[in-house]
Amino acid sequence: MKNELVEVLSPSGWKLLAPRLKPAQFEQHHVLFEADERIRHVYFPTSAVVSLVTTLSTGEMIEAAMVGRDGVVGASAALDGKISLSRGIVQLGGEIAVCDIDVLKSAALESPKLLSLLIRHEQTVYAQAQQSAACFATHQVEARLCRWLLRARDLSESDDLPFTQEYLGEMLGVRRTSVTAVAKALQEAGLIKYARGKIKIVDAKAMQKSACECYGSVKMLYDRLIGPGKK
Ligand SMILES: [Zn+2]
Repeated sequence: MKNELVEVLSPSGWKLLAPRLKPAQFEQHHVLFEADERIRHVYFPTSAVVSLVTTLSTGEMIEAAMVGRDGVVGASAALDGKISLSRGIVQLGGEIAVCDIDVLKSAALESPKLLSLLIRHEQTVYAQAQQSAACFATHQVEARLCRWLLRARDLSESDDLPFTQEYLGEMLGVRRTSVTAVAKALQEAGLIKYARGKIKIVDAKAMQKSACECYGSVKMLYDRLIGPGKK
């Protein structure tokens, strides 16, 4: 199991949950659930990366949060609400450990430590959404794209990211032409290499300098809520 959240579970929480998690493969762009839909499963990505996106009646969507091997998708619905607040879409294909929402709920009710961990995790997802709203309103496209690519790199543990400019534009809520201009500038500065539908991060350190503060803020908050010593 290579999901960091599952790894920080106490032995009792692990015993309750691990046998009920079933690994499954998901393709890029697969929709796990739609907004306002009744959620039936909880997803612990082990190599896949999932985006939680807000959709509009015009068909547009914009990303609120990204969850990968550092978290879980659908936990708050499992604990009670049952309804998804956003669309869950597989942004990078790979493996996800899946269980029924009822399994997670009963495990959380049996283990206060698991319940506490899930609540803290949901706080980190909420924090990401809040940060994304501020980021969208305030930060430049170049800084936002750097933030987004770094987050995808952290979760996928790969410098090679299969994203089209169109998809990046959708996730960031900007026109494709803006993404094209920024990707060109980043390539000329030696931070990325861009080929059709593929981005390679060449200089992650320089990219961190170009990213907006949101990248570090979300990371720091996650460490404070879930990081080492916070079991
Ligand atoms: Zn930002």
